[in-house]
Amino acid sequence: MNHLFSNLEQVKKVVLTPAFGLIFDVDGTIAEIAPTAEEVKVTPGCQKYLRSLVPRLPLVAAISGRLIKVLRELVGVDGIVYNGNHGLERWVGGRIEVRPEAQPYIAKIRVVIEELGPVLKPLGVKFEDKGAGLVFHYRTLPNREEVKETILKAIDRSPAAQAFHIDKARAVIELRPPLEISKGSVVRELIEGYHLKSAVYLGDDVADIDAFDTIRSLSRGAEFQGLAIGVVGEETPPEVTEHVDLVLRGVSEVEAFLGWLDETIPSKTG
Ligand SMILES: [Mg+2]
Repeated sequence: MNHLFSNLEQVKKVVLTPAFGLIFDVDGTIAEIAPTAEEVKVTPGCQKYLRSLVPRLPLVAAISGRLIKVLRELVGVDGIVYNGNHGLERWVGGRIEVRPEAQPYIAKIRVVIEELGPVLKPLGVKFEDKGAGLVFHYRTLPNREEVKETILKAIDRSPAAQAFHIDKARAVIELRPPLEISKGSVVRELIEGYHLKSAVYLGDDVADIDAFDTIRSLSRGAEFQGLAIGVVGEETPPEVTEHVDLVLRGVSEVEAFLGWLDETIPSKTG
């Protein structure tokens, strides 16, 4: 494993190429993993350096499975392009932008809510509107198994709901657009959309592999230089390190790397 801090000359070449973008995962990368999602906190050091880097780079972006509203609060830095809900939504210019392929699903969710609201809400089912998706919460109801069956039957009878992928793996039922969106496709879009000539991607998990592969395959051309940086520790799945160029050990070293970037990236002139 090549450690990032042993290869600073290589890293410097990438980060000092103009139109450099910084793209990262959140949980396990700039925030330590905690027993529950609510306990996760981004380190104050990471926040400080990100805040300082945002005005100096064409793109600072976060990609996470969390919803934008949660993600923005968690990272707490303005000017970051937040990509939430597995890339279905993006926070840019002060508002949530739902990706074009997901757009048609917003109207479909409205129809689902109109159709199923009168049937399910009186039973105590809570609807969490995710824009292009919808979550039915029923876990706290006393007759939850019965309610779950009623929800699934109602979905079965609704043509609008049938347009969605139905996820009933957890103690909720979720309608999600049946789209092939990954961290990799988001990374590619960001690099192209922001006309980046170089970028790094930092991530810690198997969900990031596709983003690592994307940044490395784009780097094969002469037009773009990128680095896939794995944030590794005791529990890192071995396949993660097979897909990265360089590694950092844990969130504390990510913080040190952001501090180094903060010193290395020149201030914007003119
Ligand atoms: Mg992660």
